[in-house]
Parts: sequence; structure tokens; C-alpha cells
Amino acid sequence: MIFGCHLSIKDGYAGAAKKAHSMNAGAFQYFPKNPRSLSVKDFDRHDAVLCKAFCKENAILSVSHSPYPTSLTPNNKQKREQVIHSLLNDLEISEACGSIGVVVHFGKETNQLTLLESYQLIIEMLNEILSEWEGNAKILLENNPGLPGAFGTTLEELVQIRKLCNYPEKIGFCFDTCHSFSCGLWDGENMDELLEKGTELGYLDELKVVHFNNSKYDTRLGRDRHAPIFGPGYIKETQFDQLVQTPHFANIPFILETPKEEMPHEKEIQLLQKKWGDHF
Ligand SMILES: [Zn+2]
Repeated sequence: MIFGCHLSIKDGYAGAAKKAHSMNAGAFQYFPKNPRSLSVKDFDRHDAVLCKAFCKENAILSVSHSPYPTSLTPNNKQKREQVIHSLLNDLEISEACGSIGVVVHFGKETNQLTLLESYQLIIEMLNEILSEWEGNAKILLENNPGLPGAFGTTLEELVQIRKLCNYPEKIGFCFDTCHSFSCGLWDGENMDELLEKGTELGYLDELKVVHFNNSKYDTRLGRDRHAPIFGPGYIKETQFDQLVQTPHFANIPFILETPKEEMPHEKEIQLLQKKWGDHF
């Protein structure tokens, strides 16, 4: 199994890769730039090249995460342009760092648009971005948290959006365990059903990364509060066990986005390695 966590780039991209290595992690996630802004970053290419080389040498996988204001359902023209330029910049940085791709949240339902228009806007945004993108780094669509049936919480929506886009080959998926628990997509008890559906829809073939988080709230409450894997969360160890033991997840990075003040990531990765490191 490949375990890692979200890391800061305060010491650069290569610095983050070295930090992951020192933590005995097999993967890491990073913000390609300031996580609170959509402004395009004139990044240090040399640092990115060093990051790529270091990861290759040490068999470390990486993914980036788009800044918080990134939205595939922007509510005005100006924001739309900003998101498009920002995501192209994220893709460029991810590519230079040798990353699998950039994680992007599925859009949100807005008051201005009907459901159908919201889906159409996501597809338009992806088409516009990906028509200008020739690299190998992918856009990794992440499932939303929310109440059962909320926008962007089902495998069907993720798979359909990818399929209807002009460049499906440039899109992969990110499965967040806490988000899926919040809406009951995975409630801890329905793994067989989830895998069956994921296989049937072709979702699992395009799954590139797992956000590995426990949940501070019970399933189907629509609450997105991450908890440490082995801490006091509602997803039980035996339920995680089932996920980890599934061959579909064998070569995919499991990235912790858990509160590190409650459990240092270095320690959490150590516990994960001890418990599940030998699987596959
Ligand atoms: Zn996540």
C-alpha cells in the first residue's frame, strides 16, 4: 500500500518530496501555490525538476491540490476566467513536478443555475481548460461531501461528467473517504455494493488517488469534518480494513488530510504502515 499526507511547500516542491521521504511516506499531496488565491504563479522550474527527479529516484508519487477558491461552477465571468488560468497553471506545475495530476472538487449547485445548467457549466469549464492542455498531468475530480443525493456526491455524476467532456482521457478521479461517508456513498457497510457499482460504471479504472480520512460525524449527516484514521472517528478500523484490502486500491496513493494537531502525520503514517503496509 502507498501511504502519504498533505505537505507544505515552504521548502519548495523538492523540499516537500524530501520531507515525504524522511517520513517514510510513499506519496504526498501539496498546494502548487498559495491555497487562498487563484493568481497564476511564476513558479521555480528548477525546484520542480528537482522534485520530479527526487520522486523518481525514491519511488514517491505526488498529486497537487487546487487552491480553495477553485470552482468548476464559478458564478461570474471574471471568476470563470480566473479559475481557467489558475487550473492551467496548476496543471503546468504538477507536470513539472512529475505529479499524477491536480485534485479539483466537483462543482457546487448554485441558485443562479438549474441542476442541468450546473452540470453543463462543469463540462464547459473542463473542455475549455483541457483543450489547452497537452501534458500528462490529469485533472482529478473529487467527490463532494453532503447529504445523501447532494450535488456531486455520486459515482454516476463523476463518471457522466468525465464521459461527456471532450477529453475524458485527461480526467481521473479522487475518492475522499470522509466525503463519501458524509453522504452515505460509502457508509462503512456497503463496500461490496460500492465496488460493484464502481466497476460497472468504469469509475475504479480511472481512480488515481484516495483522500484517506476518518469522519468526526456519523454517516448521512452531510458533515465534512476529517478525523485521524485511528482516532475517535465514526469509520471503524475494520471498515477501513475492507477498503485497504480491495485490490482496486492497491497501487493508488492514500493521502491523509487528517488534523495533524490531533495526530502528527509522521506518526499516523507509521501506524498505517504497521497495520496495512504489507498488503499488496
Ligand atoms: Zn479531500
